[in-house]
Amino acid sequence: MLDSIPSLARLVAELAKFPGIGKKTAARLAFYILRQTPAEAEALAGAILDLKAKVRFCSTCFHITENDPCPLCTDSGRDERLLCVVEEPQDLIAIERSRSFSGRYHVLHGALSPLDGIGPEDLKVAELLGRLQGGAVEEVLVATNFSVEGEATALYLARLIRPLGIRVSRLAYGIPMGSDLEYVDEATVNRAVEGRRDL
Ligand SMILES: [Zn+2]
Repeated sequence: MLDSIPSLARLVAELAKFPGIGKKTAARLAFYILRQTPAEAEALAGAILDLKAKVRFCSTCFHITENDPCPLCTDSGRDERLLCVVEEPQDLIAIERSRSFSGRYHVLHGALSPLDGIGPEDLKVAELLGRLQGGAVEEVLVATNFSVEGEATALYLARLIRPLGIRVSRLAYGIPMGSDLEYVDEATVNRAVEGRRDL
């Protein structure tokens, strides 16, 4: 049906690529945009282009930022003896939201997954080890997800980091197995950070 209106079909196809958005929802969104004023549609398109033009990864912690190094890395009020390792920027945001952690962060951009062919070289592991060479870090809190991949990554990192004489800790249980930190409520994340244990 949409084939006769190529510009509409194109937008639906683009929107349908979003996670959790099927063809039906994509069509609903496209029709919504169609009813918007030109200024509203331009604001949406502009926001997407602006995001892609301005947001990059911090060259120290690999969190998303508009300024490199990011505000978390330059904030002198944060404790540089503590380093929290997470899988994705969304996990960092979840921990920040819980206000339970005042150290610095390192974003791996994924977790080890041999079945998917994802090894340490695909993650920011070498960069993490590089940061630990400085000698300032006394504890690494591994806050990877409680999934098979997240647990495997935590154990892998512990084996690498412990010989450096650095304490390695893990979030306390209480976070449901298989869940992403991103979707866990603040109080639970707070308890998991407070109750962290040695790995
Ligand atoms: Zn940073």
